[in-house]
Parts: sequence; structure tokens; C-alpha cells
Amino acid sequence: MPELPEVETVMRGLRPALEGQTISRVTLRKAGLRTPFPADFAARLTGRRILRLTRRAKYILAELDGLETLVIHLGMSGRLTVGAGEPLPGTHDHVILAAGDAFVTFNDPRRFGLMTLVKTAGLADDPLFAGLGPEPLAAEFDAAVLAAALKGKKTPMKAALLDQKVVAGLGNIYVAEALFLAGLSPRRSAGTVKNAKPLVKAIKQVLNAAIKAGGSTLRDYRHADGELGYFQHRFKVYGRAGTPCPRQGCGGTVKRIVQSGRSTFYCPTCQK
Ligand SMILES: [Zn+2]
Repeated sequence: MPELPEVETVMRGLRPALEGQTISRVTLRKAGLRTPFPADFAARLTGRRILRLTRRAKYILAELDGLETLVIHLGMSGRLTVGAGEPLPGTHDHVILAAGDAFVTFNDPRRFGLMTLVKTAGLADDPLFAGLGPEPLAAEFDAAVLAAALKGKKTPMKAALLDQKVVAGLGNIYVAEALFLAGLSPRRSAGTVKNAKPLVKAIKQVLNAAIKAGGSTLRDYRHADGELGYFQHRFKVYGRAGTPCPRQGCGGTVKRIVQSGRSTFYCPTCQK
């Protein structure tokens, strides 16, 4: 499942192809993804200029000149491909959008993705966004904000950081990596963290490192048609059960446990 750094990479890959361009054609090959497309979806997009692309949590936002914003979520298996040549649609290519000289294809075998239109002025209050906590990479997400969100929480650290009201866009992989970097156990009761500063720093650090790795994979769409946002990234603990703890001098072994039905990877020796 794409996490925040992958979505950020996809969004950055779309920017040079789409920002400032006018949507000339939209081909819908299905009636919807996890929910039906909005009424007259293709007609409402066609002729609109894409003013800017941004990201909120794991949503890509394309602000249009008609006061609406195209909202894209990749779901479990959504992929966006951008190229300069008109593509021959494959089996799971559900949406093809032409703008400027670029063609963007949304492919999604499991169809848990989402594409919809929201009034730009009402974005923050839309049900998709109203409950979301701060962006982890924004300056407003600092030790005081995180400490306040964790205060009194008896849930394990892992669950607290996956809670989108605490911080937006963190998933299983980067929670594991951030907790390792901060030396905090995923099992620890969230309210017991007195100093949230190292954890905030760790969250920003693991996300920024992954975004940097993603950025290095981006190619000019005019020269290389390609799928955006999937890149190899080495993890310290995620997916590494049974291997020696990578922390210098620790000597522990990375362990896999299951919390709320999902895998957690951590080092019981140095994460307290
Ligand atoms: Zn360790």
C-alpha cells in the first residue's frame, strides 16, 4: 500500500506534466473506483486548468480553475502512470486524463482508490479531510502538538501514531521506522512519552529520507513513460524480523509482533 512518501513522490512526478495545463480529454473506463465517480465527472474536468498540485495526508489534490479540486487517493493498489504518448489502455486502467502533452493513467486492480471533485473552498470541512490531524512534515507538527495529542492515551504507541487524528498520513512502515529511530517501543502506552521531541524529529527524518529516495527515481515524462512513486528503500526494522538490530552497539534482534491485526517490527532491546 502506498504510504505518504510514495504519494508525495507521485504528486511531485505529476507536477511538471500537469501544473498550468488544461485538461483536454478524460476517458472513464469504469463508473467509479471504491465509490462512483461524481455526476458528469469527465465533463466537469474537461477544459479546466490545473492550477497547482499538492498533497494532504495520502491524498493528491489538483486545484482546478473552476473552484473545484480533483482529489485522488491511490487506495491499496492504485498506480499513476504519466507519459507523452497516448497509452493503449490495459485491463485495470480505469481513468485516462490528457492535459498539455501528457497522458496520465490511473490503474487500480483492486479498485480501492478514489477520484472525486470537492469544492476548493470547502476542502478542510469535507468528510475526507475534516478529521485529519497535522501534516507530519509541516512546521506546525512539533513536540508540543504531538505531546498534547498523546497525553492521557493508554493505547500502544504504534496505534497512536497510526491514528490519523494524531498525525496525518503515517502508515505501518514509517511508524515502525520512526519508533525505531526514536528508541521507543511500539508497545509502550502512548501517554507515557514525556518528551515528544525525539519522536517528532524521527518521524520527519524517516519521511524526508524516503521522499528523497523517491525523488531520485523521477524521470522527465517526455522521455520516459513510467509509473510514479514506487521505489526501493531500505528499512531499518520494517520487514527485517530475525536480523541483527542495526543500532550501533545494541546487539539485539529485530522482532515481529502483531498489534491490532497488523505486523509491527521493532528491537525489544533498545526500543523502550
Ligand atoms: Zn536494538
